[in-house]
Amino acid sequence: MISKAEAKHIWVLAEQKKGKVANVALEAIGLARKLASASSQEVWAVLLGQDVGGLAEGLIQSGADVVLVVEHPKLDTFRDDPYVDVLAHLAENHKPAVFLIGANSAGRSLAPRLATKLRAGLAADCVELSWDAGNLVAVRPMYGGNVLATVTCPEARPQMATLRPKASPRPVLDASRKGRVEKVDLGGLQIRDRVKLLESVETGGGEVKLEEADIIVSGGRGMGGPERFAVVKALADAFKGAMGASRAAVDAGWVPYAHQVGQTGKTVSPKVYIACGISGAIQHLAGMRSSEIIVAINKNPDAPIFKVATFGIAGDLFEVVPLLTEAVKKEMS
Ligand SMILES: Cc1cc2nc3c(=O)[nH]c(=O)nc-3n(C[C@H](O)[C@H](O)[C@H](O)COP(=O)(O)OP(=O)(O)OC[C@H]3O[C@@H](n4cnc5c(N)ncnc54)[C@H](O)[C@@H]3O)c2cc1C
Repeated sequence: MISKAEAKHIWVLAEQKKGKVANVALEAIGLARKLASASSQEVWAVLLGQDVGGLAEGLIQSGADVVLVVEHPKLDTFRDDPYVDVLAHLAENHKPAVFLIGANSAGRSLAPRLATKLRAGLAADCVELSWDAGNLVAVRPMYGGNVLATVTCPEARPQMATLRPKASPRPVLDASRKGRVEKVDLGGLQIRDRVKLLESVETGGGEVKLEEADIIVSGGRGMGGPERFAVVKALADAFKGAMGASRAAVDAGWVPYAHQVGQTGKTVSPKVYIACGISGAIQHLAGMRSSEIIVAINKNPDAPIFKVATFGIAGDLFEVVPLLTEAVKKEMS
């Protein structure tokens, strides 16, 4: 166990995929920078992969003071076992006070395993982080977003938290920032490798990622069938945004699970969320209610979605959405 007395600095996992650092990791570095400035600590970015050293400079420009670079063939593509083994080894050697990880699918899988190995506490899916008397104060939605819980881990170190995508702005690059890049030699570290990656298939190639989109247009059971999702997709494309769906639409087999928003799907927080033919069940709201602007289009004026909507359109989506799409196309051209 890492003792409180010896723990220092704020670590961020600089998760990368195919040589591109995940947006949520950059957002976490930006937030770590603010936390570090308020506590005179350093921000350390931890970069794992193969041939990834070239990304270190960008991490420093984003706010890191130190970048630990670990290159190893077993770290080429994210898998829990090798990542946990290497991160636990680094943390035990350097003893961070705080460890932030993006709450995307890799981070949500990795963070609890790492916390268990380090015997540290973990605040998952946080939307806000601050300090209180030297302890990290993490705010996370609970009970489908109806309650905001405040979590602290007063004794165990590092204080771990996963950060929800878009909970914090991406830092503006500062080319004048200076930092230190340390290449880590793992020596004879035993790295578990129980899972072999046989094939990696990209779904929805070229499409905007749901968690990273500024504008999301989602369809629900009110779409009435798979082919009719083209109406929602056309509006999402016109906005250069992403297409989401309710679980009812996913369960019906109209759209793949990757598009599901909600308690058992993705949590999103775009600038604009447009819900088409979605009633507004609590489990759906759990995944989208922190969107900046919510637009609801539903033919039932009493649908619960209107209670959380910034703008509501009571009408038939098949009349409203194509009109919106035309208007957006005209505006964008
Ligand atoms: C444990 C658990 C986890 C769950 N997780 C999720 C989750 O992650 N995500 C999720 O979404 N749900 C989830 N659900 C399911 C959730 O409870 C609802 O059943 C689901 O969200 C309903 O989807 P919907 O709004 O598309 O369908 P419905 O509730 O059937 O609503 C369809 C809406 O479309 C409107 N409509 C119909 N035709 C038109 C039209 N032509 N124009 C405009 N409006 C129209 C109707 O008025 C209605 O309001 C979960 C449930 C459980 C129990």
